[in-house]
Formats: sequence, C-alpha cells, structure tokens
Amino acid sequence: MKTAGTASTVKERAELALNDEFLRKAVKFTTERLRNGKKQASAEHGNWDDWRERGRQIRLHTIAHLDYYLNMFANQARANGVHVHFAETSAEAVKLSLEIAQRKQAKSVVKSKSMVTEELHLNHELESIGVEAIETDLGEYIIQLAGETPSHIIIPAIHKNRYQVADLLSQEAGETLAPDTSILAGFVRKKLREKFLEADIGMTGCNFAIAETGSMVLFENEGNARMVTTVPKTQITLMGMERIIPSWADLEVMATLLPRSATGQKLTVYMSGITGPRREVDADGPDEMHIIIVDNGRSLQLGDPEFQELLNCIRCGACLNACPVYRHIGGHAYGGTYSGPIGAVLTPALQKNVAEWDDIANASSLCGACYEACPVKIPLHDMLIYLRRRKQEQGHGNAAESIGMKGFAAVMGSSKRYAGLVKLGKLGQKLVVRDGGIRLKLGPLKGWNTYRVTPSLPKKSFREQWGTLEQELRHGLKELDPDVRSRMEAIVQGRDGKGGNGHG
Ligand code: SF4
Repeated sequence: MKTAGTASTVKERAELALNDEFLRKAVKFTTERLRNGKKQASAEHGNWDDWRERGRQIRLHTIAHLDYYLNMFANQARANGVHVHFAETSAEAVKLSLEIAQRKQAKSVVKSKSMVTEELHLNHELESIGVEAIETDLGEYIIQLAGETPSHIIIPAIHKNRYQVADLLSQEAGETLAPDTSILAGFVRKKLREKFLEADIGMTGCNFAIAETGSMVLFENEGNARMVTTVPKTQITLMGMERIIPSWADLEVMATLLPRSATGQKLTVYMSGITGPRREVDADGPDEMHIIIVDNGRSLQLGDPEFQELLNCIRCGACLNACPVYRHIGGHAYGGTYSGPIGAVLTPALQKNVAEWDDIANASSLCGACYEACPVKIPLHDMLIYLRRRKQEQGHGNAAESIGMKGFAAVMGSSKRYAGLVKLGKLGQKLVVRDGGIRLKLGPLKGWNTYRVTPSLPKKSFREQWGTLEQELRHGLKELDPDVRSRMEAIVQGRDGKGGNGHG
C-alpha cells in the first residue's frame, strides 16, 4: 500500500487524503470557518468589488514595472543600511543564507512564517551545516515537530485536529498535555521564549516590500514575527521578487484585502513595518539586516501572457478555502510547496520541467470559485485550462482522455446530439440507479463513486422544463394587459432569435 512518502502522483496522494477521516474533517472544518469569515468581512466592507479592482490595478501596474520598483526598493533599502542581495536560483538563495549564518557563527535561527523558505527547503539546508532552525509560528512549529510540510498557505497545520496536536506537543514536553488549546498554546509560548532569547539570527518572509522607502511589512497574528525581528542581533528576510508594491498608500489597499480574504479579519493583529537595522535611538532591533530577493522561476512568468498575472498573488489562501477539491483533499495531495488552485498553477509555472507537474492542473473542477474568492482577481481557472491544453500539446496527455474530450466536444456542439444522448442516458441509467443516485464503482465512475454518489439524470431536463415554461408564458400572455403583453411578446420573440437579447 502506498504511503504519503511513496505516493508519486496527485491521484495517489488524493486517494490517501480521501481515506484519512481526521484530515478530511479538520480541513473541512477550518476552510469553512475561513470561507464564512471572508464572506462576512467582504459583505460588511460595503464595496468589496471596487477594492478588489483597486488591488488588481496596483498589482498589474507593479508587475508591469517590476524592474523599476525592485531597483527603487533595493536603493532605498541600501540607503537605510540594509544588505540587499539578489538570488536568481534556489541554490543561490540558500548559499547566501548559509554564508551569512556561517559568518555569524550561528548556532540557531528563529523563523517566522515564510513560504519562500519552504520553497527553498531552507530549514533542511541550515541543519546540514549544524544550525538549528526553529519555526515560531504556532502552525509551522506543529508541522516542524511532525516532520511535515505546510498544507495551507496561511494555516500550515490545517490538516491536524487538537488531539493530534496534543500528542505531538506531549512528546516534546515529555509529559501528557491536555487537548485544550490554551494549554497547548501556553506550552509552545513558554518553549519558544527560550528559543528567541538564544537565537543568533532571526529569519522572516515578507508580505509586502514598499519601494518608496525600502521598507518591508509583515502581517501576523501571534507576535512571533515581532520577536524574530527584534531579539536576535542579525536578521535575514527572504522575499519573492514579486512582493513589491510602490508606496505606503498602496499598502492601505493591500491591508484591507489581505486579512479579510485570508481569515475574515478586518485587520491583522500585528502589522510591522521595518525600515533598516536598529539605530542608536531605537530600543531594540537587529544590528545587521539582510534582504535576499529571490527569483527562483518567477521571472519565467514575466512577459508570459498566460501566466504573468500569477505574480499578482498576495498569498492570502482564499482560493484554497473556496476550492471544492482542496476542501476535500487538503494541501499535501498537491505535492508542491504551494497547494490549492494557486499551487496547481504556480508549481508548474515555476518549474521548467512541466512534465513532472502537469497532472495537478487536473485537480480542479474549473468552477471558477477561486477567481471569485481572489482579492486581486487572478483568473486561475483560465490558467488551469491553459495548462491542460499545454499538457496535451506537449504530448503528456493520455489517449483515453483525448478521445473522451473529442466525443464531449462532438456532443456539446450539436443540440440534437446532446438531446439524443440525454434520452439514451435516461434509459440506460434505469439499470444502475439506486435510491436516487448512481453508486456503481466500476470503470470511470469508480474514483468518483468511492467517496460520493453520482446524481441521476432528472425525469425532466432543464431544456424540457424551459420549453414547458415558455409554452405557459405564451399562453399566459393572452390574459395580460395589452401594453405588458406587447413587451413580454418582444422578450419571447427575442428568445426565438427574431430580435431582442435572446439567451436561447
Ligand atoms: S491566487 Fe488570489 S486567492 Fe489565491 S492565494 Fe493568491 S491572492 Fe489569494
């Protein structure tokens, strides 16, 4: 039997996730909570869609002038006393980080949450030179103890329930801790306090980098990033090259969009703006500060008409919470650092070797919920379709799927063929429908019906119901006031293709 470590395809990993009752319940519970929180926060905001559009315009403008704003940011940051480095590849970013750690003779590094360092597998690299890397975000700390990777962009341990967390923390504590969230959080808080005080280096990611002043901004809810950026004497920030925004005024829009989209909060609990190392007048802060700006495949998306908008992503995770596939299988099934709809597009886009990752574009129902949820309106569903097409064009598709799609196109291209197939389907399903659904676990239905029931075709199709409705409407018109009738008739005629705005 395959295990999480040996499963090599999305399908195998998804199957493991679907068989894991704890994981499914935990992921469903939290994504629903986050999704509802976001829905409420965006409704209360009042003109959410206008702000989404503002966010999108800021990101489009910044990415279109990325070289200009990166240059401005780097110059300003250097003027503030920060050492700015550019890393083209993952290996370069790792090398730069390790060189700093070695020069500082560091024994331990405390880290606040950073997806870029996950992308670089930096913890492992630090440990290979004898430097202890300690995650200080509660979720990251939990999965570090479990020896796992994050399964959600903002809730890394979303797949674990509090009983599993209590087991992990009890092992660390050497005593049994009750599965009570305040007891568990209290244990971690005490444990991490010691680590903050001992650490030689603080390492962070970066939510936004402000070009006009060379500042970096961190959003967090636990206060751990403040400890990471104030206690150790040296600070290293690793940021994806697309994290830039032009000004503090633009941050206002992002600070409105990001927390609401991520967790439904109107404001993040702690928002820290950091502009250089400690000055003489400052009570705390690092004496030495480095920013490593990481490309690692991002520039492959620049100028690409299909993928450039990926660089607009502000890593809020809303598309994961909205995605019906992610909500069933969690993040590990995607196999890369980034999961959910954004991961299904970003992972192949960041890789030169798409063949290895082309399957994850299939882990989507193409319903467009990710686009609806996205605060900067990234058309992820279009990108997923493009990836599927590219997979076929590059010869990675399978013959059965190709034949199936050709058949689907032939049927959907003709209303007669479609109606004929529906009739045939209604006759055929009589053999397999039980209790209102198809439960057969054979052939192409096996995967779907193992975990759910395929609904049967209704007695009357939408088209048939629509026809009846139209007849009734025509009949009912006779009873109407002549003026209303002539207007309604115009609509019905429009439906017939004789004019008007028909939707037939
Ligand atoms: S694609 Fe959009 S919704 Fe998904 S993480 Fe990025 S910004 Fe958030």
